Parts: sequence; structure tokens; C-alpha cells
Amino acid sequence: MFLQPLKYDEPLFRPPGEARSAILQVTTGCSWNKCAFCEMYASKKFKIKSFEELEPEIKILADFYRGVSKKIFLADGDAFVLSAKRLIPVLKEIRNRFGRLQRISSYAMPKDVLSKSDDELKELRALGLKLLYIGIESGDDELLRLVNKGETFNSTVEGIKKAHNAGIDTSIMIINGLGGKNYSEQHAIKSAEIINQVNPKFLSTLTLSMPYGHEHFQERFKGEYVQQTIVELYKELRIFIENLNVENVIYRSNHVSNNLILEGTLSKDNPRMLKQIDEAIKGTPGHLKPSASLFL
Ligand code: SF4
Repeated sequence: MFLQPLKYDEPLFRPPGEARSAILQVTTGCSWNKCAFCEMYASKKFKIKSFEELEPEIKILADFYRGVSKKIFLADGDAFVLSAKRLIPVLKEIRNRFGRLQRISSYAMPKDVLSKSDDELKELRALGLKLLYIGIESGDDELLRLVNKGETFNSTVEGIKKAHNAGIDTSIMIINGLGGKNYSEQHAIKSAEIINQVNPKFLSTLTLSMPYGHEHFQERFKGEYVQQTIVELYKELRIFIENLNVENVIYRSNHVSNNLILEGTLSKDNPRMLKQIDEAIKGTPGHLKPSASLFL
């Protein structure tokens, strides 16, 4: 764990790409907090911090990083739920304190983007908000409903395109194995379709983890969840990748939950990655993925 300049409300999560960023916790918890597969903020009551609370924290961060941290990540779950009216003074204060700032980023849900006007998004972009991490998890409407994601294929496409139109890049996450055996193929195909429509800058796949076990997940999943073997998860990933048709998307499948590490630029590196998946399928015994693993 890195040295922390602030006393954060734990647990604190951030994307792997923000490992060196200064983290400002503008909210605690997640405003939605209902996704069947996510227990990240189950212990927290959602709260938005006031500007008066955040101002001294920004100063502490700036003093700690001597104002030279190039990236700031806004936590927690979907910090972008804050209205533009609340975000703008926070971003201005960050810019005042950090001289060589390159980027501010945050987790977001598509509905957080859609709740802001085009002009508000452009103003946030001009203040340094350049990247949103959006866990869309799947492009399949049936599965999105079963996991209670609170978004649809259309709302997701609209939200992501609206961010892109304002000049804000996105990093999109898909969960391999989200629907188990019964929904595997439709999940892979519709997830590729949604990525093809939005062409994000970054894409990553995680693998479904069940830190509280299979039965606990089944209770939260609104369909019949049938666990997949590791080989079945690879086959699902293969369908997803072979259906992708995008340009210059930086793809990573290097999360701790993944059994197979893949990295490349889509679609240029698709053939190499498909070959890697085929080799993994050939060389892996057909056992189930362990249900308990680290969530982060
Ligand atoms: S996956 Fe994201 S939106 Fe869903 S409960 Fe977790 S943090 Fe909130």
C-alpha cells in the first residue's frame, strides 16, 4: 500500500492505472450500490463531501505531492454523480493547487454523464477532467437487468458518446463470466457490439469474482446462475474479442481476477490475442474458477 497523505474512509478503491495518482475522496461509497456482483462499498453509507470539507484535503494533497502530481483520481464509487455545480469549484481548486496537472479522472455511470449538459461536460473537460472509468460490465440488456446494473445498452451508448463528444475519454470495463453458462454467448456478443459502437480509448476485462461465495452471488443474481469452468470463461472471452471491430483501443486483461493475461491494441492485435486464448484453452484442465478470490 502506498503512503497516504490523508485519512481515507476505507476501503478505498482506484483503477490500476491510477496507482501513482493523488486520490481525493469526493464521495464515500457508491450512490447506486445495488449491482449484484459488487460488494466494494457495501459497508459504506453514500455521502457527498462538501466543498468546505474538500478544500483543506486538496491543500494537504498538494503539500504532500508538492503540487507536482500529474494525475488526480476522484473517489469513491461513482464520484461523477456530483452535479457540475458541485464539481466545478472542486476542479478549480485542484487546478489552483497543482501546477503541472495533466489529468483528473473518476469512476462514473453513464447516467452521471447524461445528467450533465453538453456545456457542463465541456467546462469540466476544460478544467482537466479528461478520463472517466465506466464499468459497463455487459452490453446485454437481459443480463444488465439480472445483475441490477441500473443501465441499458442504449443508456450506456448514449452516456459514453456524450462524454466523447465533450472531449472526455473513457476507460470501459467488461466482466468476463458475469452471467455464468446460461448467458455466456449473448453476454460476449452484445458486449462486443456495445464496444464497437462507442470505440473507447481504453478497454479492460475483469473476471467475475465471488468473495462471499457462489450461493451469496446467486441470491443477488435475478436469474439462474450456473458457474463456468476456466475453459468456458476463455471461450466467452474469445467470442468477445473475435467480435470486436474497433480502432486503436488499448486493451488490458491484467486484473488480479484474470487467469489469462492479455494486452494489446485492438483490432490490430486481435489475431495474436485469439491465438493466446486458443493456447490457454488447449492447456487448461476444465475445472471451475475458484469462487473466492480477491475483488480488487
Ligand atoms: S459496480 Fe459500480 S455502480 Fe455498481 S455498486 Fe459497484 S461501485 Fe456502484
